[in-house]
Amino acid sequence: MNGRERGEKRHRGVLLVISGPSGVGKGTICRELKRIYPDVVYSVSATTRSPRPGEVNGRDYFFYTEEKFKDLIAKDAFLEWAKVFDNYYGTPKDFVDATLRRGQDCILEIDIQGALQVKKKESLGVFIFIMPPSKEELLRRIKGRGTEKAEQIKVRMNKVEWELEQADNYDYVVVNDMINTAAEEIKRIILEEKGRIAGDISCSAENTSC
Ligand code: ADP
Ligand code: 5GP
Repeated sequence: MNGRERGEKRHRGVLLVISGPSGVGKGTICRELKRIYPDVVYSVSATTRSPRPGEVNGRDYFFYTEEKFKDLIAKDAFLEWAKVFDNYYGTPKDFVDATLRRGQDCILEIDIQGALQVKKKESLGVFIFIMPPSKEELLRRIKGRGTEKAEQIKVRMNKVEWELEQADNYDYVVVNDMINTAAEEIKRIILEEKGRIAGDISCSAENTSC
């Protein structure tokens, strides 16, 4: 590694991947995290699903047609992409790269298939799995959100068993019982990881004895 590469690596932001089953509260936690720790940048994903009431194109998602999404896959524009239930979702690669290169931390809130893809590519990523307090509570939350029909809820719940088993592939598991406690825990993880990664890099770059 030359001096310039070392400098770039040292100033690179931390990539945080937050995932877990649908309805566990990922979006809610990220909104709270944004409030208590505004320094991180959230990657806005692309999707082929229709906007829900109140969702804004470019803020909540980039809402694309399937044709446009597949064109972007062909152009290798995604860091990861996955078909989640009936729709495609993907993380724009250039945005994440540019954010990290500027030295800012970047959060991806994505499904488990996507997180596993990122894990293969980003060795310095920090992977956080959001766990529901129980399967019954997860079902209550999905139903309570009121954005899916009964059939769609059934499809999502059928996947839960497999999803919960994937928690072992993550660096951290955070139980979303109380929203503020879960968000505080994630903030603590981010700060700890930033310190650890900065320490590792300056150690390997400057001090061969550590
Ligand atoms: P996800 O983004 O994981 O699909 P959401 O953030 O949309 O999940 O949350 C699903 C539902 O659960 C929402 O109605 C949200 O208000 C509710 N919720 C999230 N976290 C909690 C919590 N800790 N306690 C109670 N309800 C919660
Ligand atoms: P929703 O349609 O409820 O917003 O999201 C459905 C699922 O897709 C959630 O689990 C969400 O985390 C996931 N998701 C959102 N954006 C992305 C993305 O860019 N990539 C992947 N793989 N999953 C995503």
